[in-house]
Amino acid sequence: MIVYKFGGASVSSDVGVKRVYEIVSKCDDKLIIVVSAMGKTTNKLEEVLEKITEKDFDSALSMCQDVLQFHTDIMNKLNLQTIFVDHIYNNMIEFIKDDKYREKEYEYRYDAFVSFGEILSSTILSIYLTSQNYVNKMLDMRDIIITDSSFKEANVDMNATTQRIHRAMKLGFNVYVTQGFIAGDIDGNTTTLGREGSDYSAAIIANALYTNSLTIWKDVDGVYNADPKEFCDAECIAQLPYAYAVELAFSGAQIIHPKTIKPLENKNIPLYVKSFSSDSSEGTIINSENITITSPFLIIKKNQILMTVKPKDLSFVSEYFISDITRMFDDFKQCINMVQISAVSMSLSTNSSRHFDEFVAKLSEKYVVRYNDGLEILTIKNFNDELLAREKKGRSIYLEQRTRTTVKLLRRGN
Ligand code: ASP
Ligand code: MG
Repeated sequence: MIVYKFGGASVSSDVGVKRVYEIVSKCDDKLIIVVSAMGKTTNKLEEVLEKITEKDFDSALSMCQDVLQFHTDIMNKLNLQTIFVDHIYNNMIEFIKDDKYREKEYEYRYDAFVSFGEILSSTILSIYLTSQNYVNKMLDMRDIIITDSSFKEANVDMNATTQRIHRAMKLGFNVYVTQGFIAGDIDGNTTTLGREGSDYSAAIIANALYTNSLTIWKDVDGVYNADPKEFCDAECIAQLPYAYAVELAFSGAQIIHPKTIKPLENKNIPLYVKSFSSDSSEGTIINSENITITSPFLIIKKNQILMTVKPKDLSFVSEYFISDITRMFDDFKQCINMVQISAVSMSLSTNSSRHFDEFVAKLSEKYVVRYNDGLEILTIKNFNDELLAREKKGRSIYLEQRTRTTVKLLRRGN
């Protein structure tokens, strides 16, 4: 058995859906197809939710209608009857209109609503494949990937999930179509695994079923040593060790979700990153082989905020303060991407977030807090002096850290 994952960019049109069929129909193995929401649907649904939160229900309804129209257009072009998704459309409209959801916390409502993107895409794909006489069974991951109730960033219970996936496989189909990103807690509430989490879902499924491989189909040829949109000299890399891929993903490489590698590494399942549009490119294989990588990698993590936190009475930054400050970051789910400690202050780079102002207010109760926003972290692995000079030229550098092989520059974004 193998797992194929298709992202939103791949299934953003009727042509994309047809291309998925072309790819999967060439596969001889038993197959699980994991799909994200079509195109920019998740962003659009987030916007609808903002409108609901602002109590602007008319705008919410009209924006939701646009999302539904986008899916209807794709279905029409694929000659599919939209009657098959009417119940999903109705549930979405009901979510906007029904008071019972309004008193729930934002994160709960987020998962309940934004998950419709994946429900729509997987339903449409499954119906289309069936219309091509390609037998498949749709699975609803809200009942299979079991998580805790940390809405928007839920933690997976691998034992419960493994049991449920094995139970689902007893249905005996050769092909299953399912959703990335979405899951459910033990009480049946919908949860999600964090933005861009479909890769991670695919890896969870691969781990649970001990599959032969996972292939992530992308709109690029494979893993590059830099984002081809940002750096014109970027090159596609043929092979990478798991550990290297984790570091790249953690540093902000958009290619794979950072949590994807661990479930694969734990069972030694190879990950292929391949081009969705072209059959000719080889792509990248990520596996346990410890090859030495010498080419430089450049990864940018955007939307960074550098916070400087000082004890109010000019105390030294002791271990007590370090753990107290980092615990507060953890409480507010503010990730820490770079840290530097001086005698009387701690500097931390974090992402901008919805709760940022609230977070600063809480931190300011105990500490003096200053921050600079609009920054980015550039990580250069296997750096050389020439590359470093090029990337520093004309840029304000707020923090620079280096080991023998890696440099991190926190600099003002372009
Ligand atoms: N649709 C979700 C998102 O856009 C999950 C994913 O694409 O992986 O974040
Ligand atoms: Mg996506």
